[in-house]
Amino acid sequence: MGDLYALDFDGILCDSCGESSLSAVKAAKVRWPGLFDGVDSKLEDWIVDQMFIIRPVVETGYENLLLVRLLLEMRLPSIRKSSVAEGLTIEGILENWSKLKPVIMEEWDEKREPLVDLFGKVRDEWMEDDLATWIDANRFYPGVADALKFASSKVYIVTTKQGRFAEALLRELAGVTIPSERIYGLGTGPKVEVLKQLQKQSEHQGLTLHFVEDRLATLKNVIKEPELDGWNLYLGKWGYNTQKEREEAAGISRVQLLELSDFSKKLK
Ligand SMILES: [Mg+2]
Repeated sequence: MGDLYALDFDGILCDSCGESSLSAVKAAKVRWPGLFDGVDSKLEDWIVDQMFIIRPVVETGYENLLLVRLLLEMRLPSIRKSSVAEGLTIEGILENWSKLKPVIMEEWDEKREPLVDLFGKVRDEWMEDDLATWIDANRFYPGVADALKFASSKVYIVTTKQGRFAEALLRELAGVTIPSERIYGLGTGPKVEVLKQLQKQSEHQGLTLHFVEDRLATLKNVIKEPELDGWNLYLGKWGYNTQKEREEAAGISRVQLLELSDFSKKLK
């Protein structure tokens, strides 16, 4: 009958870590201007480098902003306002982000929504001012653009990114037009709910369902839902996950570890 693929965007189709880290630094400068007073370009480079290592903890883009400030507080005792920054290591962030996040948001008196809006606004402005450099800060993984272009399966994008950004990158960088109704972006609800919606649609009855994601925590959320038992689940090894998470995934029978080269073949 055919296959339906629900694909995560960042870390599966597109390596956007450079772009999201630079956007986060720009947004952090807007949100907390005083914080960057003593910050030179060397320290700023250090922050962007660390962001590549801790990227696996990020579920939604605005968290990049929190990470930028946390990294700054780790390096600069004078600006420290959170109780967790002293003695914190990169390893510590990778291990404990879900516990650290609510603590720093409380201590910095920040709420999710304004940060989401600001992060989107900073990206919009960057795109408007200089679309070429914004696009250049992203790249599609090798083979992915062609796989999407020539896919015979029904493809949906399920992402925590704002849909308009995913659409622009697909169009401008990958040369692929995916209709906006096939893109479930930020604000369309949790991924588990999107998957439930997709499997219920009458035109999808009889299709084999596949969900490809690079975040193990998201796949675990799917496993928790008996209603979603029919989905084949894949952890993309090339994306933003750690060795430890890949080892854990290898022990979960519902989850298949997927190589990039096999992923491109599957869509065809
Ligand atoms: Mg991802």
